[in-house]
Amino acid sequence: MESVTLVAVTAANTAPDMALLDRLASRLAPVFHLSITVSNSPIDAAFAYTPERCQYYSTRLVAALAALPTRPGEHILGITPLDLFVPILTFVFGEAQLRGPAAIVSYHRLTEEFYGLPADAALLDQRLLKEAVHELGHTLGLRHCDDWSCAMASTHTVELLDLKGAELCPHCRRE
Ligand SMILES: [Zn+2]
Ligand SMILES: [Zn+2]
Repeated sequence: MESVTLVAVTAANTAPDMALLDRLASRLAPVFHLSITVSNSPIDAAFAYTPERCQYYSTRLVAALAALPTRPGEHILGITPLDLFVPILTFVFGEAQLRGPAAIVSYHRLTEEFYGLPADAALLDQRLLKEAVHELGHTLGLRHCDDWSCAMASTHTVELLDLKGAELCPHCRRE
């Protein structure tokens, strides 16, 4: 991986939160020591909407991101406010192609508002950064890590997400 492009994935006619993507790009760059750019061409997620679940099928979105034209060594990370699922799970925070070029992260369930609490923009930025590092780690071939403080720890709740760091542990970093 030599560079990462962040792509907004939105519902039809919904403007993406580009300021959120710009903040994420500036915080991701020092973690991976890479150039992180934000695409100004959002993807319309309508084709992945699954009415029976009122959610978006994550694997189809990742496939669409992987099909975008890329330069050698460029990875694509989709960022979406939409709620994602895969058939065997109620929801996912994100999904990645292991050692593949594409991944996606949803911040639908990373906001405090989702849990009925007052908005906290700084906390959302921090959670989104951790999820982004995690999914990009998978695209680099990293698997889940037993170190609970490592960004590659598997976390399915915001409580566990808030406990772990946005950095890779020394073992994952070596890999
Ligand atoms: Zn994972
Ligand atoms: Zn680790």
